[in-house]
Amino acid sequence: MTNSIPQKVHDAIDRDLVLDNKKLNDVMVKFEREIKKGLSKAHHDESEVKCFVTYVQNLPMGTEKGKFLALDLGGTNFRVLLIILKGEEDYEFKSKIFAIPQSLMVGSGRDLFDHIAQCLAEFIKDMNIQNEILPLGFTFSFPCQQKGLTTGTLIKWTKGFNCSDVVEKNVVELLEEAIQRRNDIKILICAILNDTTGTLMSCAWKYQDCKIGVIIGTGSNACYVEKVRYAEWFDKPGKFDDESVIINTEFGAFGDKGSLDDIRTCFDIEVDKNSINPSNQLFEKMISGMYMGELVRLVIVKLASKGLIFNGKISKKFMQRETFFTKYISEIEHEENNVFHATKEILYELDIENPTEEDCRIVRYCCELISKRAAQLVSSGLAVLMLRIGDPKITIGVDGSVYRFHPRFHDLMTETIKQLIPSNYEFKLVLSEDGSGRGAALVAAVASKDLQ
Ligand code: BGC
Ligand code: MG
Repeated sequence: MTNSIPQKVHDAIDRDLVLDNKKLNDVMVKFEREIKKGLSKAHHDESEVKCFVTYVQNLPMGTEKGKFLALDLGGTNFRVLLIILKGEEDYEFKSKIFAIPQSLMVGSGRDLFDHIAQCLAEFIKDMNIQNEILPLGFTFSFPCQQKGLTTGTLIKWTKGFNCSDVVEKNVVELLEEAIQRRNDIKILICAILNDTTGTLMSCAWKYQDCKIGVIIGTGSNACYVEKVRYAEWFDKPGKFDDESVIINTEFGAFGDKGSLDDIRTCFDIEVDKNSINPSNQLFEKMISGMYMGELVRLVIVKLASKGLIFNGKISKKFMQRETFFTKYISEIEHEENNVFHATKEILYELDIENPTEEDCRIVRYCCELISKRAAQLVSSGLAVLMLRIGDPKITIGVDGSVYRFHPRFHDLMTETIKQLIPSNYEFKLVLSEDGSGRGAALVAAVASKDLQ
């Protein structure tokens, strides 16, 4: 297929965007170095990958029971859920999606938390559970430093969020205060967790050997099960060396102090420069849904400027930032080879009229380059985590819109990981259903069990 792409196109973009195993191995070495720094007390400050302790130690047994509330903030949607765990790997849930208007995502923290509390109150009334005090798991998918299961200090906002007066505050307290301001509902916040933790827990509920949770969606991140003796920040009194604890790596920030400089391209630099958090989350900006479409657009713009696509003519719309959505990549790559219905429709949307077959092939090729690179980079990180865990056989729970909807992401990851780890390691990537909801309930369940 690639041989139907003109050599000049390869010459213009391949050198930057194609990663061979040597480069991936180099990424792995640096990633492992950053993980070790993040876990340590002495080098934590200079680490790119912060490795926050989640305080979640027990994986679920599948027998957990009870009724829980969950909040899920930080992905594509904001959701409130009521989950009933019935033991024996059975559960039921009801949920409602609420919009978070753009203005709230970058407004004041107080407005954001008031909105969350309002949605929660509305949901509780809809479900007619005002009279119960239910335990709540708060899935808050941003980098937080935890001091226990119920405190999480926001270190920085990521993705599209940038609310004032939240960084360096305990978000559990902010939520509790917002609930108190309303004074019409009662809940018990049992745990704050990252979406990756929810994903791991949700997957471990069914697969006991699940030790890694990954999100490849709007943002990207992974958590994994680490031995407490390496988790220097884990300060639980009376901890035993052979225990383990889930570590939220926050690997999206990998590269923020230069580790990825060798492989970052002019496209990556441009995407970062135009983002709301320049110089932050550089790994995430190479792999996650919020940025992949824009990367493809920039690659195509470069080709057009060299006269290598669309006859050198590009529309005004195509020149505008963020007009090429990440979901287009999945739609385009979904098509059979040499069928370009969706591709042509998308290009038409972007005011590119009458593209030739070759144009369409090149557009598809650009999508493939960006999605393959993303899959390879995530896989390098996961390979390092698998080697750290050291189990010969593990399951990896995965969620997020990119992983779910891209037709080849799963296969690309499986293929890459196989190349990067010794052949005696066995692993399976499993779509983890509803980590942020059910996972939150499970963390709350396991947590309330610990409290008893
Ligand atoms: C956040 C992580 C989160 C990931 C996936 C990143 O931007 O920093 O906490 O897990 O997105 O939602
Ligand atoms: Mg989510």
